Amino acid sequence: MTKKNVLRIGVIGTGAIGSDHIRRCTQTLSGAQIVAVGDVNSDNARKAVSSYNINAKVYDSGHDLIKAEDVDVVMVTSWGQTHAEYVLSAIKAGKYVFCEKPLATTIKDCQEIIEAEQACGKRLVQVGFMRPYDKGYRELRNAIANGDIGMPLMVHAAHRNQSVGENYVTNMAIVDTLIHELDVLRWLLEDDYVSAQVIFPRSTRHTHAKLRDPQIILLETKSGIRIDVEVFVNCQYGYDIQCAVVGEKGIVSLPEPASVTMRSDAKLSKSILTDWKERFIDAYDIEVQDFIDSCLAGKLTGPSSWNGYVATVAAEACVKSQETGKVEPISLPNCPSFYK
Ligand code: NAP
Repeated sequence: MTKKNVLRIGVIGTGAIGSDHIRRCTQTLSGAQIVAVGDVNSDNARKAVSSYNINAKVYDSGHDLIKAEDVDVVMVTSWGQTHAEYVLSAIKAGKYVFCEKPLATTIKDCQEIIEAEQACGKRLVQVGFMRPYDKGYRELRNAIANGDIGMPLMVHAAHRNQSVGENYVTNMAIVDTLIHELDVLRWLLEDDYVSAQVIFPRSTRHTHAKLRDPQIILLETKSGIRIDVEVFVNCQYGYDIQCAVVGEKGIVSLPEPASVTMRSDAKLSKSILTDWKERFIDAYDIEVQDFIDSCLAGKLTGPSSWNGYVATVAAEACVKSQETGKVEPISLPNCPSFYK
């Protein structure tokens, strides 16, 4: 890609997050223009073009979009199962690619991406893990790194959604939902996982036959930190992300999203968000702006395909434990210097 002031982006997948990224690139961020959109259902793509009033060509094939000469970089926001083929195609075309999580749905596909990227000799892939861009998580990480709570010993976290549809099934609690914690907690602690176990408490009556909800995931890191994450995707009351790190001399917790305190009807209350897009809206903006700026500068610095690979390895151990009920080992090769 030649050095330019405006990055021409092609977006594959114009569903919930794809449309939201088109909106932010068009209305909120600077330095980028959406010039191409594609979706397996081209009506979706046309709808995105008209909703955001953008001058973008609609492609029936994601691969043709990637090859298009006027597309500098690619954003992959289609279903998880389709990510690997598009990321590999973008690497082959020598184009930067922002791939929403997960990088790929199998370890083998992640390995193939890592190998292809290293073979081309330059980082081309950024994975859409936005939590490291969130102000609250950044403050947590700084507090831990500064030694404010002493050595970290335990983490208690929760990922709760108000409700999910009938097509959300048991393993999605890991591969779609927990995957965010799998990425952000190792970044927070600067540590890797060695094992995982999934425990099923009594199920809520608000779930359906193919989804065990809630779930508790227990992780152990190399340094011996123990982590418990509650994933509860039909909690009814809102979208709620919690994270508390317990250290030798203190505890540091993720701040609650800003909300006015209300005194009314003999109650003192604050609102809880219900829409995941709102909870991390600033983080998504910073994340995608960082991708745009990094592409324009010719050097990616955000979450890499190695981060995507590690999250998928850990997720696979969790899914295995959902089936076996046992503690499952997580073993990783050394991180190649290319990704350090
Ligand atoms: P979604 O609303 O279902 O949108 C996905 C879109 O991709 C749909 O329009 C779908 O078309 C289209 N699509 C499916 N297969 C395709 C293919 N082979 N080529 C081109 N387009 C294809 O899903 P979403 O919630 O936006 O999620 C998309 C991805 O982003 C997922 O991997 C998800 O995990 C990730 N995500 C990340 C975050 C985050 O916080 N970072 C949040 C949400 C989602 P049809 O519906 O017509 O089949």
